[in-house]
Amino acid sequence: MRLGLLGGTFNPIHYGHLRAAEEVRERRALDRVLFVPAALPPHRDEPEIAPRHRLEMTRLAVDTNPFFEASSTEIAMPGPSYSVRTVRALLEERQGADEFFFITGTDAFREITVWHQWEVLLTLCHFVVVTRPGAPFAALAGLPLLQRVPPETLGALDKGEQHSARCPLDGGRVLFLEAIPPFPLSSTAIRERIRAGLSIKYYLPEPVESYIIAQGLYR
Ligand code: ATP
Ligand code: MG
Repeated sequence: MRLGLLGGTFNPIHYGHLRAAEEVRERRALDRVLFVPAALPPHRDEPEIAPRHRLEMTRLAVDTNPFFEASSTEIAMPGPSYSVRTVRALLEERQGADEFFFITGTDAFREITVWHQWEVLLTLCHFVVVTRPGAPFAALAGLPLLQRVPPETLGALDKGEQHSARCPLDGGRVLFLEAIPPFPLSSTAIRERIRAGLSIKYYLPEPVESYIIAQGLYR
């Protein structure tokens, strides 16, 4: 069992998240991808939308993909959502999973060295870093973790000359860099559009849009 994990606030979930997860699932032959909404993101302000709404939107968004699943693991855990705790909890919960692939966008990964026990986290799972518009791989140059990745590789990924790079880490884990087709979407932009009374159609799955409207979220 090869299990992917995409964490986030999913406030709200959108096609950028879904497409990134689907790309990684196919490229890395994952059996399943768990979408794990965070309860209390440690490095950002608490989102204004209750965890149960973010979990429900995530459920609605992944419903039609048999490989995807919404996980309440972080939301159900008391205390801050540290990824290292989440992965440990999931390893317990999914005894059958032999390999974990932690998926993040370049913007999230750039901050990894401030994550709680990040060095331990890197011994528990592989990492898959996907490109995100506005956050090129080149911006990761200098990260201690990428010491063994030549800067030319980062440039080649950004230019589309190379689609992925495999970087062995200490302890047998692997860091995969995946240049995926760009989806210039963010939850911030969606929240701003709703506040401005603009359409969010085709930014996220229709059931999520309907839920946002029915619940009057982000107004
Ligand atoms: P916000 O604007 O509120 O920060 P967001 O769109 O960045 O929301 P998050 O929930 O913060 O979404 O992101 C969860 C994970 O998904 C992060 O690892 C992030 O890098 C990744 N991600 C989000 N949007 C995209 C996208 N358009 N393309 C690739 N990865 C993305
Ligand atoms: Mg974000």
